[in-house]
Amino acid sequence: MRTRIVAGNWKMNKTFDDAEVLITDIADALDDVALENAEVVLCPPALYLEMAADVAEESNFSLGAQNCYPADSGAYTGEISPLMLHSLKVNYCIIGHSERRKYFNESHEFLAKKVDALLNHEIRPIFCCGEVLPEREGNRHFAVVKKQLEESLFHLAVEAFTQVVIAYEPVWAIGTGVNATPAQAQEMHAYIRQLIATKYDHETAGNTTILYGGSCNGKNAAELFSQPDVDGGLIGGASLKAEEFLQIVSAL
Ligand code: PEP
Repeated sequence: MRTRIVAGNWKMNKTFDDAEVLITDIADALDDVALENAEVVLCPPALYLEMAADVAEESNFSLGAQNCYPADSGAYTGEISPLMLHSLKVNYCIIGHSERRKYFNESHEFLAKKVDALLNHEIRPIFCCGEVLPEREGNRHFAVVKKQLEESLFHLAVEAFTQVVIAYEPVWAIGTGVNATPAQAQEMHAYIRQLIATKYDHETAGNTTILYGGSCNGKNAAELFSQPDVDGGLIGGASLKAEEFLQIVSAL
């Protein structure tokens, strides 16, 4: 049975003090939540991971990073390696977010290297995929997502692939207030699962956690998560307020 996940991507938000308050509020509330076959992942800015790791040690959430560089160490000024993340007991790392693809020109090939580097250190990639609006309007969204998976994930052997979490995030839904409809999300998630079954096998496809991301909030999470192939969400804006984030968690 696959794990259901709600992951919060804080992006480049919050001062240290505000981040500490948010993470403590969420951690305290999670003490009273029974997470059966489900997981909450918090992905604060890298600078706050050490503080978050201390809170996570006593709490009911897993820790995720928002990015990494695919080398253990070296002359890569400003970058953070999977080895460093591992030393803070980081469990997950977001890879392939549309903002990194767009603003930092991250290619399929580079993302494949990041996936490998993370798996080398037992960190589970949360691999984001999704189309921009003209691609959906041109009915190319399935082909776009297929290529993203093929070029950055499908080189993995099946054992390694089982460690990957996929997040379908239509770019037109990220931060816009316009979420994919539950039917649109289900259609793409089922397609992704079918691709995995074709590449690997049905058992692997059935065990892969596929999250939805894009303007998911306290109001629409329950309906989105009720779709048979939607196993939770990757949450941006709505993860910055404890109350709303916890409402989303309760929809798991
Ligand atoms: C994201 O950036 O991963 C995301 C889903 O953002 P939002 O929830 O704000 O649309």
